[in-house]
Amino acid sequence: MTKPRPYNFSAGPAAIPLEVLEQAAAEMTDWHGSGMGVMEMSHRGKEFISIYEQAEADVRELLAVPSHFKILFMQGGGIGENAIVPLNLSRGETADIVVTGSWSEKSYKEAARYCQIHLAASGVESQFTTVPAPANWQISKDARYVHVCTNETIHGVEFHALPDLKALGCDAPLVIDYSSHVLSRSVDWSKVGLAFGGAQKNIGPAGLTLVIVREDLLGHAMSVCPSAFNYTTVAEFGSMYNTPPTYGIYIAGLTFQWLKRQKEGGLQGVAAMEQRNIAKAKLLYDFLDSSSFYNNPVDKNYRSRMNVPFFLADASRNDAFLAASKAAGLLQLKGHKSIGGMRASIYNAMPLAGVQALVDFLRQFEKTRA
Ligand SMILES: *Cc1c(COP(=O)(O)O)cnc(C)c1O
Repeated sequence: MTKPRPYNFSAGPAAIPLEVLEQAAAEMTDWHGSGMGVMEMSHRGKEFISIYEQAEADVRELLAVPSHFKILFMQGGGIGENAIVPLNLSRGETADIVVTGSWSEKSYKEAARYCQIHLAASGVESQFTTVPAPANWQISKDARYVHVCTNETIHGVEFHALPDLKALGCDAPLVIDYSSHVLSRSVDWSKVGLAFGGAQKNIGPAGLTLVIVREDLLGHAMSVCPSAFNYTTVAEFGSMYNTPPTYGIYIAGLTFQWLKRQKEGGLQGVAAMEQRNIAKAKLLYDFLDSSSFYNNPVDKNYRSRMNVPFFLADASRNDAFLAASKAAGLLQLKGHKSIGGMRASIYNAMPLAGVQALVDFLRQFEKTRA
């Protein structure tokens, strides 16, 4: 008997569904009888074009993306998009941002190199354990866009409803960095102008960035914007202006197919996954809240379903915790170095059984306390 595969709680690059990895392994040297592996194919050949078109159609279906939005498969990751967004949307003028943790703070600093960036609100006073109420955001009248990170991967803070900028009297498009919860829940596109996410949390390998942008926002890139990062150019060429990250797109496509097969309580696809993610998060937070040995400091209304930071009351036991969890087949639980402690990332690929195994371990480890 082979040992069961450990559960991997990495924040990213993160676990990929085993079915996807096994299919990719089986197709590694010969994709569908073509005599080529996917990495060896021309991106302009009919084989890869079919992989690309299927992936695009599947993600459009999974996220119910309306037809007036373009789906772009880019490179550069979330951090690349921190520059690419202002280069395309700011016109060198004013953009607004709400800072709710490390990732939006990074976006703020990077955008300031290309435009006047205005801080509309910040959660810093709460040490990023909650989100300032949208009704209190101070949005510039002339903002070209408003940037929000809808799931702060490090601080574990998630928007469970997108802000309605129109209701706040703001006509600017909302830009969301949804890198770490893309495809974990549905998206209300009526509130969104542009969404971007790196693939390595919930989609596939690092190196691919999924951008979904409303068509009317195209056509305003600053002249210094690199052609490969100009959304209009990327859209015109169907993400093939430059060579796209072909293998990443292929794995993303297998993940989309896997997602479409998921069923839960009469639901399918992202809706099924969302129910499962709610159940996973509830199991873990309920346990953490019931224990005095562990704690999670985030406001219950904004706790992330994907990234659960937690702290041992006795931090001197952190190393022992990490060694014991690894030995128990629970990998990569160490928290981000900027805030310490632990973090369990429970993306789509983490089954409920993995979260149950973690909770069982947490309970067991607590009993060993001195
Ligand atoms: C991981 C992450 C990023 C950065 O992705 P890179 O691929 O390293 O550029 C950006 N934003 C959020 C919210 C993330 O979780």
